[in-house]
Amino acid sequence: MKAQILDTLKAEEGIVSGEKLSAELGVSRVSVWKHISRLRELGYKIAASPRGYQLTDPGDALFPWEFPDRESKIHYFPQVASTMDIARNLARKGCPDFTVVIAGQQKKGRGRLQRKWLSSEGGLYFTLVLRPEIPPVLSFRINFSASLTLARTLQRMFDINALVKWPNDILVDGKKITGMLSEMEAESERVSFINIGLGINVNNDPTSREPMAASLKKILGRDVSRKALLSEFLNEFEARMNSGNFDNIISEWKEYTMTLGRRVKVVTTNDVSEGIATDVDENGALMLELENGSVKKVIYGDCFLKP
Ligand code: ATP
Repeated sequence: MKAQILDTLKAEEGIVSGEKLSAELGVSRVSVWKHISRLRELGYKIAASPRGYQLTDPGDALFPWEFPDRESKIHYFPQVASTMDIARNLARKGCPDFTVVIAGQQKKGRGRLQRKWLSSEGGLYFTLVLRPEIPPVLSFRINFSASLTLARTLQRMFDINALVKWPNDILVDGKKITGMLSEMEAESERVSFINIGLGINVNNDPTSREPMAASLKKILGRDVSRKALLSEFLNEFEARMNSGNFDNIISEWKEYTMTLGRRVKVVTTNDVSEGIATDVDENGALMLELENGSVKKVIYGDCFLKP
């Protein structure tokens, strides 16, 4: 009902009479008024006058009904500790593939290795529950697909030089606009779920606490629709997942990275190495050419770009 009311108000652009809404929706005018009041409570800017109702600002809400094709699989929370925790619980309880948990803000947003992800109002924070029919050893392909898809979507929508830093942060001109982490659970050599969490700096500004961060709003000098960005990303990523075609994923990903050819420092749980990032192999590992000419393969670690 909310989606229908909003669609009608958006389509009309001017004032829509209560009579028209009640006829179109097949409910009483009192019922229309109740739904409108609820929408206003939820933050929609709807002006009410004796002539009817008018949506004065389309807004950028991320409620499930804003995504009509996906409504039943979208879970929206104005504020949570972490979308990863909610998504994990839903996944363990058997939620369907491509369930999306979105938060307006996170109080304990997480990065990799228990780092914090600053998640104030205005950013886009979501976790996607995926149930690909693949063995756990191939799960890296899903992570690379996600970062590749997001970089591509950002480039296409905003004409910005969004590139992936191995393994999966997205930077624009060396500043971080997106962090990603993934969690997997498997049963008897089969993935039961892979959850991909993305935090994107959209209309928020984390730079006072994270000087090496940037946001789309700062880069573009205008507000950006989180809803449009999320829809585009989900559509493109879902098409990729449904295609089941991951054979060329690493070579495609390489076209969207800024790590290769750069001098980097890589910190793993065991050691720290410095060298030139020469390649990413077919399993997603970073190949590092060290000072002494030998090549080191890094499967998991933090990568810092050196000037
Ligand atoms: P890096 O590659 O920068 O070391 P990471 O991949 O290890 O990061 P992530 O999980 O992507 O870690 O992000 C966590 C880190 O990102 C934090 O330690 C912090 O430095 C930084 N950070 C936290 N919140 C934000 C934000 N909103 N925007 C940009 N950077 C952030």
